Order: sequence, then C-alpha cells, then structure tokens
Amino acid sequence: MTDSPAEPTVFERIVAREIPARIVAETDRVIAFHDIAPKAPVHVIVTTKTADYRDIVGLAAGDPALLAELVAVAQGVAAELGDGEFRLVFNTGASAGQTVFHVHAHVLAGGLEEGTLA
Ligand code: IMP
Repeated sequence: MTDSPAEPTVFERIVAREIPARIVAETDRVIAFHDIAPKAPVHVIVTTKTADYRDIVGLAAGDPALLAELVAVAQGVAAELGDGEFRLVFNTGASAGQTVFHVHAHVLAGGLEEGTLA
C-alpha cells in the first residue's frame, strides 16, 4: 500500500530529471540536493526516489531499511559539506510546516545556534 499524492510533487520531478537541482549525493533509492531556499549554510534535502511515502511516519512503517538508507545519505552529505555534525528535520503534516508531501529530510549544518529547534 502506498500513500503517494495523485499529482507528481516537485521532488518526484527532480528525481525524474524533469526540473534541475543541485544534486550532491545519490544512491539507487535516495537522492540529495541543495534546498532552493536555504535556511542554514548547509541546507540539503534528502529524499527517496520512490514517491510511495508522503512522510517519515509512512516510510518508517512501510520501509524502515529505506529510512535507514536516507539517514546514512544525510550523514554522508554532512560529512562531505561540513564537519559531519548536522540537524535532521522531517516536517510531518501541513501544520508542522510540510509543503512537499514526498518524504524528505532537511539536513541543516554550519552556523546553527545551540539550543534552538529551528
Ligand atoms: P517542507 O516544507 O519540509 O515540505 O520542505 C520543502 C522544501 O523544499 C523547502 O525547504 C523548499 O525550499 C524546498 N524546495 C521546494 N522546491 C524546491 C526545488 O525545486 N529544489 C530544491 N528545493 C526545493
């Protein structure tokens, strides 16, 4: 069972190479690219190539190995672009700030303030 939306999201279109993105890492099942509106010195989106899952809750239940792969890619990106330390944010639901309903993590690093959540 999947919970993908009817219309392709912007991330699905990036995966399909229909729109450009600054890709920084890629595996068979995961892709990472710079956020178009960065909120930190390093702000990379890491997402699944499949559009089957709209958020981390669905992904964790449906394919935990793919979630683990996404986290591993995030760590690699943080090591490549920074010092390997990072904040990983999964907005889950519109009222929590999610705007793209294709599961993704924000990798935020560099110049983050201590003790803040965002
Ligand atoms: P959300 O609000 O957690 O769903 O995160 C969506 C993110 O996708 C936002 O930080 C946007 O800036 C980012 N975004 C939207 N369109 C693009 C794009 O075409 N390329 C890269 N990032 C994008």
